[in-house]
Amino acid sequence: MMNKVTVLGSLNVDTILKVQRLPKPGETLQIISKQNAGGGKGANQGIAAARSNAQTSFIGKIGKDENGKMMCEVLRSAGIDITNVTTASSGTGQAFILLQKNGENSILVYGGANQELTAADVQKAKNKIVNSDFLVTQFETPLECAIEGFKIAKNAGVATILNPAPAKKIPTELMQNVDLITPNETEAELLTGIKVIDEKTQCLAAEKLLEFGAKNVIITLGSKGAFYQTKNERGFVPALRVDAVDTTAAGDTFLGVLSSQLDKDFSNIKEAIKFANKASALAVQKLGAIPSIPSYKEIKRSL
Ligand code: ATP
Repeated sequence: MMNKVTVLGSLNVDTILKVQRLPKPGETLQIISKQNAGGGKGANQGIAAARSNAQTSFIGKIGKDENGKMMCEVLRSAGIDITNVTTASSGTGQAFILLQKNGENSILVYGGANQELTAADVQKAKNKIVNSDFLVTQFETPLECAIEGFKIAKNAGVATILNPAPAKKIPTELMQNVDLITPNETEAELLTGIKVIDEKTQCLAAEKLLEFGAKNVIITLGSKGAFYQTKNERGFVPALRVDAVDTTAAGDTFLGVLSSQLDKDFSNIKEAIKFANKASALAVQKLGAIPSIPSYKEIKRSL
């Protein structure tokens, strides 16, 4: 049986601007090339879940503009239910990625419509949430939406996954309803004050997150893999050794795929992480965010 996953989150159009270097204050520089692509943590995670066969629905907000239409099409063509993607007065969220010749990225984000999503919008999507196995969210939409969504989910016995990115202080009101929290190393440090550098500090940071109220923890460790801690077990699942060309959306791919594979009681967490690691390893070998997210078949074939 495939999981039913609802993703509550951001929809952005990424505009990738290739430049020789960043302009100095007062300087004008030519852009070498300009390219648009679908993105936003919410969209990436939703597409990762859908491509690995989860029955996926989305709660989010777009502007009344071409970018909004493009993001709806991106979700729809992945088979995602967009009944609860509504429109706002602001423009669709957008990230401007200044990609320098030396490979360095500088990013400016316009939250736009994402910032207009409200608890009332989430309430309107209650039916979708309560009929899901998992509700997944991040911090690119307002905190009140995550709080409302997780409250609805927990009251209905739906499992909740919080990807605390970009990291911010998590109120108890939200943390008490988090079944699984999935920071990367930097986010784990920001949340716990513990620098995650080895097994000992992974355990300490995870313990702290459990103390804060999360029921289960996965800390993603980039090219090293992922550490997990549940009530009954803890462990480490190494990443695959691959030649990474672009790690954009590695974390989003990991999380979306994980949500498509997990049992609601997290009893298969190690197996689900193994599968998600494989998916991310495929994603980092391709350029771009959404174009790099693999399908279930591709992940299976790589096993
Ligand atoms: P991003 O912000 O780039 O989307 P993240 O910081 O949220 O990523 P990471 O911890 O970097 O998340 O990576 C998530 C998962 O992706 C890792 O647990 C691992 O399985 C996989 N991964 C990341 N980088 C690599 C790599 N270079 N080689 C193989 N697997 C990788």
